Amino acid sequence: MNLNFSLYMPTRILFGCGKLTELGTTPFLPGKKALIVIGASGAMRKQGYLKRVTQLLKSNGASSVVFDKIQPNPLVEHVEEGAKVARANKCDFVLGLGGGSTIDSAKSIAVMAKNPGKYWDYLWGGSGKGKTPAKGALPIVAIPTTAGTGTEADPWTVITKTDTNEKIGWGGPLTFPRLSIVDPELMLSVPPKQTAYTGMDAFFHSVECYLANVNQPTSDHLALEAIRLIRKHLPIAVKDGRNIEARTKLAWASTEAGICESLSCCISHHSMEHALSAHFPEVPHGAGLTMLSVAYFSYLAERNSNRFPDLARAMGEKIDGLSRKDQAMAFITGLKKLIRKVGLKEQRLSRFGIQRGDLRKLAENSFHTMGKLFELTPIRLTVEDAAAIYERAYA
Ligand SMILES: [Zn+2]
Repeated sequence: MNLNFSLYMPTRILFGCGKLTELGTTPFLPGKKALIVIGASGAMRKQGYLKRVTQLLKSNGASSVVFDKIQPNPLVEHVEEGAKVARANKCDFVLGLGGGSTIDSAKSIAVMAKNPGKYWDYLWGGSGKGKTPAKGALPIVAIPTTAGTGTEADPWTVITKTDTNEKIGWGGPLTFPRLSIVDPELMLSVPPKQTAYTGMDAFFHSVECYLANVNQPTSDHLALEAIRLIRKHLPIAVKDGRNIEARTKLAWASTEAGICESLSCCISHHSMEHALSAHFPEVPHGAGLTMLSVAYFSYLAERNSNRFPDLARAMGEKIDGLSRKDQAMAFITGLKKLIRKVGLKEQRLSRFGIQRGDLRKLAENSFHTMGKLFELTPIRLTVEDAAAIYERAYA
């Protein structure tokens, strides 16, 4: 256990079924005029969530303007456009309503509404210029309608720049939501496949934060619980999306995993997935992570078994009496079972149009754009190692 750490988690989280109604009364609303950021699919309108949120804001004394252009792998041009809309309408906070892509976009818009230049001027990694957003950011409110990214409880925002094939996670103290409302009732209508993808994303956040060499006791505790909850409840929610108990447990697991991402960090599994979906945007994030996962985590476990036995136990595997190496590999057994149970066993890189000849370029991209996470990975991986992991996942 690492007893040398920093702990900062400034987001106020209102969690529970029916909690959305508190948007209408909470004294913690950070402004009087919201830019509400939603996806381009129209789902938030169709399900009536946008109307409810607008009315609740109104009864709490806040007006709102809607920006509805966000795509599943959110694009930098929409961040910059959303920021212009926020400035033109004098919005004093940004509210992200929807999945991870809309809440991430809300965070990035909140920064660009206050700072000059281009969004990429402020990013580290890839062709980002690493400038400091000196003028701060508008306060952020997050209302997730999926259980997966954990963005409601962390500072991270992942945005794609298509002309350079860069998909980069970025954030800091400015991009923590001021207020997050996590209401599992908003997640009941997520289709089975998206439930599986988002649930697996939360699962890998937990696993990676547990393995990261910046792990710390609070995130360890939350990560292991999130893994136990996801193993048990994700297969149930994939089969029966209306099961409110499973949805609630998964919403909590996702939020726990988000807190883990604030206190510890994801590792290079995420860098490698971002490279994949930067080049092949039709790959959903959770699908990309799942397709790489068995190859990636066995590569790690074979070289450094540290901490893997704890993960195997959290997956419900019986490991007493096994050798240390077999205890570590039992996590891979549990992972394969979970992938099968949530219906993602048949996913293959080749089915998304990825060719063997692309793999080297993906390995290089993962270091170029999100090389920092390789430094937090418990073994030292080179570009050659990353290429070998993509090869294993492809086979
Ligand atoms: Zn993720």
